[in-house]
Formats: sequence, C-alpha cells, structure tokens
Amino acid sequence: MSLHEYHPAHGAGCALCCYGFERLHKAGEAPLTHCPACGTALRRALAAPALIDSAARHLAPAHLARHGFSQYRRLERGRYEKIAGDGPDRLGDD
Ligand SMILES: [Zn+2]
Repeated sequence: MSLHEYHPAHGAGCALCCYGFERLHKAGEAPLTHCPACGTALRRALAAPALIDSAARHLAPAHLARHGFSQYRRLERGRYEKIAGDGPDRLGDD
C-alpha cells in the first residue's frame, strides 16, 4: 500500500480535486492520471515516504561532513565523541 497525493495539473478541478486529495493504492496499482469525479488531468505531489527518505539521506554523517557540519554521538552525560566532520574529536572533556 502506498499513499499518493493528487492535485489538478491545471485548471480549478471539482469539489474532490480542487484542493488536492489523497488516495491509498495497492502495490502495483497504477497512479491516477485523471480525477475520477471530473476527469481533470492530475499531477502527483511527493508522497510522505519520499520526503522521509530524503531527510534521512541529508542527515547521514558523510553528507553532513561534506557540507561542513560535524556530528557527535553522546558517550555519557556531557561528553560527546565525533562521528563526522572537522570539529574537535571529543566535546565535554575536562
Ligand atoms: Zn475533479
């Protein structure tokens, strides 16, 4: 099952599609190309799982380091060990 979000590709659409609507598809079911109520051509918006995949990729240590960020893992209260980036190897040591 996957959730798809649809909006009219152009024009105002009808009561069903004018503000966009969501439709749950079974695996392998073809996405809608036209509104089932009024026949207006539809475009698909990004589904939520695609956005989550993208966020996870951007928070990966290698991606953060490439863009100048450092990432730390908590060792214990107040002490952190670097896992990515150019920052100091440890934070919180006395
Ligand atoms: Zn419609």
